[in-house]
Amino acid sequence: SEQAVADIGLIGLAVMGQNLILNMNDKGFTVCAYNRTTSKVDDFLNDEAKGTKIVGAHSVEEFVAKLKRPRKMIILVKAGSAVDAFIDQLTPHLEKGDIIIDGGNSHYPDSIRRTKALEAKGLLFVGAGVSGGEEGARHGPSIMPGGSDEAWPHLKEIFQKTAAQSDGEACCEWVGQTGSGHYVKMVHNGIEYGDMQLICEAYDILKRGLGLKEAEIADIFEKWNTGVLDSFLIEITRDILRFNDDDGVPLVTKVLDAAGQKGTGKWTAIDALDLGQPVTLIGEAVFARCLSSLKEERVRASKVLGGPKIEPFQGDKQQFIDDLEQALYASKIISYSQGFILMNSAAKANDWKLNNAGIALMWRGGCIIRSVFLKDITNAYRKNPELENLLFDDFFNKAIHKAQDGWRRVVAKAILLGIPTPAFSTALAFYDGYRTAQLPASLLQAQRDLFGAHTFEIAPGFGTKERPEGQPV
Ligand code: NAP
Repeated sequence: SEQAVADIGLIGLAVMGQNLILNMNDKGFTVCAYNRTTSKVDDFLNDEAKGTKIVGAHSVEEFVAKLKRPRKMIILVKAGSAVDAFIDQLTPHLEKGDIIIDGGNSHYPDSIRRTKALEAKGLLFVGAGVSGGEEGARHGPSIMPGGSDEAWPHLKEIFQKTAAQSDGEACCEWVGQTGSGHYVKMVHNGIEYGDMQLICEAYDILKRGLGLKEAEIADIFEKWNTGVLDSFLIEITRDILRFNDDDGVPLVTKVLDAAGQKGTGKWTAIDALDLGQPVTLIGEAVFARCLSSLKEERVRASKVLGGPKIEPFQGDKQQFIDDLEQALYASKIISYSQGFILMNSAAKANDWKLNNAGIALMWRGGCIIRSVFLKDITNAYRKNPELENLLFDDFFNKAIHKAQDGWRRVVAKAILLGIPTPAFSTALAFYDGYRTAQLPASLLQAQRDLFGAHTFEIAPGFGTKERPEGQPV
């Protein structure tokens, strides 16, 4: 019979799995590796894992037998039916209190379903969003685990040591119940779409609006990366803009401008619509990718649809560049506040107790949206865990007021120049809608009542709540 030697097991020896195993091994844990195609177990043990404490298994039975109790096993395979297949293979060999973790990119309703089904059998399930790709998996990813609460004390040490570290804190905390870990990972990806779109709009304005060259724009991003925008995405943008092809031309100018997508941004936007939450920036970021992909049609349209002619920039260029930095920062604040609106709405709908400060901390390092800015979000939620909206926090309230004038000048200028800024513009429109006590939705309600007899309420302060007599139906 096998000896239970491993602190944790991992199934799925593709890029993510192999790197995560090596990372956990470096942190002092004994890991048991398994894969459907078992030849990959031997390849791994004889190559990358040579000289480590890593052990392998060639069957599910052997795998389970090698795990210390309560058994902890990470499934890191192609999302979808492969995950259910492994759960079905594992469960007959498990005991009460054993923990199955899905570390792949599963859609959160699957994680809700799996948590409930496994808990009904006395087992524990954790859906863990893992971000940071291959590099993150190897050296420290952002890990977002949620599911069976009782599982967390058994996982905490392994997960927090394996995760990225930021200012001495692990970028891994318990997110909440059932599918919340994968939900938060999904919103992370949506926010990533938004951050990238904002940066692209800033680039477009600098290039076409100010007439700057890629190298000059790179210098601006380099400077921005030392201020409030300090982040991985600003940093890689600087490097991309500096990268020249063999002929000396910036490579980015030769890249086909038709964006692809794998769907997590779309899932976020669809969920926002389902929950009735105004997550406008991620929505616009997804649509901007859709519009970009109509490349041939846009080329035809560019020949017949006129707009303003962009003249050489008049005025204070440096002031405008500073305004643009503030516009980007303010729009980012709006995007993250929308992300938290969505997560908190999902928490209500699914009965999750979410850890907001922990979520910002998890995104602080190891993942694509990592930034200094997320530390301020962590602080805001640590100060007030019940914070209704980030914009109500003193720090962000001051920041958005400071940014506001420049933000408006940038959006106004872009509109006059005919340079599309869907993300900057929708952020500002959200801000103006959110801070407006009396919206024209009163007229909208009256319209709905007139043609559809949907009825309306009289606003507080106007006496009767009854529908007045003699109204047309
Ligand atoms: P992958 O290419 O998504 O999947 C390959 C692995 O899945 C292999 O171990 C393969 O086993 C197994 N597999 C596929 N279909 C299976 C089935 N029907 N039954 C059993 N096993 C099956 O691997 P990956 O790129 O390492 O990604 C793993 C997970 O992490 C995925 O969910 C992916 O979306 C996610 N991911 C995340 C990031 C990130 O940055 N967070 C990056 C990449 C991937 P065989 O060797 O036997 O074929």
